[in-house]
Amino acid sequence: MMMREATPEERRRFYQEEWNKRDVPDFILHTISVREFGFDLDGRGPNNRYNQFLTVEQLGDFLRSRAPYSAYASVALYERPSAREGWLKAELALDIDAKDLPVKSCSCPQGSVCERCLDEARQVAKQFAEVLAGDLGLRNINFVYSGRGFHVRINDESVMALGGNERAQVVDYVTGGVIPSDFTMALGYSKVFRERLERTFSLLKVDDLLRVRGMKRSLAQRLIQEKERALAMIRKGRLHELSGFEGLGPKTFRNLLEFLTKLNSGFTDGKVTIDTKRILRLPSSLHSGVSMKCMVVRDLDRFSLEEAVPKFLREAAE
Ligand SMILES: [Zn+2]
Repeated sequence: MMMREATPEERRRFYQEEWNKRDVPDFILHTISVREFGFDLDGRGPNNRYNQFLTVEQLGDFLRSRAPYSAYASVALYERPSAREGWLKAELALDIDAKDLPVKSCSCPQGSVCERCLDEARQVAKQFAEVLAGDLGLRNINFVYSGRGFHVRINDESVMALGGNERAQVVDYVTGGVIPSDFTMALGYSKVFRERLERTFSLLKVDDLLRVRGMKRSLAQRLIQEKERALAMIRKGRLHELSGFEGLGPKTFRNLLEFLTKLNSGFTDGKVTIDTKRILRLPSSLHSGVSMKCMVVRDLDRFSLEEAVPKFLREAAE
């Protein structure tokens, strides 16, 4: 998979020849005139804000004439989007960036992505959506491939009015990002919390565990050598049994639990979710940093990165 920056000429070609209004998802199309649009026109950041388009044709004209480096639309709907005033409601959005995953199995340098960590980000998006649908009963859940990761965008009326505080609680719940207050109960951990701990622990290496306060190398090695045994305890919610590992006293156990929980919360950027005025990359637009199309993904399991390769890159590879 080739990922490289698009040239200004390639951006122009993309918007002239390939961009299609049919690739703008319905949840944006139907609310286009009440969203704020933002653009990064030259690769220096999304400084061109406060744009309003009454129709998708107007948006298309702008994209074709300016060929922006990046294009964004607000998660919020406004009475006056061109002033960012009269906030009405906002999508609930989760941003899972493959380059920022707190633990990953590939060896990408910091700030890079590869097919492997993109796939891990995809799995995380799927896990989040399962909890949003199963535990919270949400139905209007959309996935977007963003270029370096995935967005989960929820348009159920029941979540669109939520404020930042409530959104933060949704993030904590979905990510397993806080230790449940009933943690002293032997079986008191929620299923989602156990699943998140299990997922995170399964990705750890000895060096990761050494970041836990009070963790000795011999104990870290034992925990990784006997990972399956530890995972089985986590899966059953019998976390206290982890203390059966020689050298894992109550203090280190607590530090380990805090460490895992903190990692859990890092699988999505919580700042994106709680910011009800955020702009997110526009599905249908080009991510010029990696020359990939930001696009809606209808079936996460079957999505192939090939679908997001723009024509100019495909032709250059031939
Ligand atoms: Zn990677």
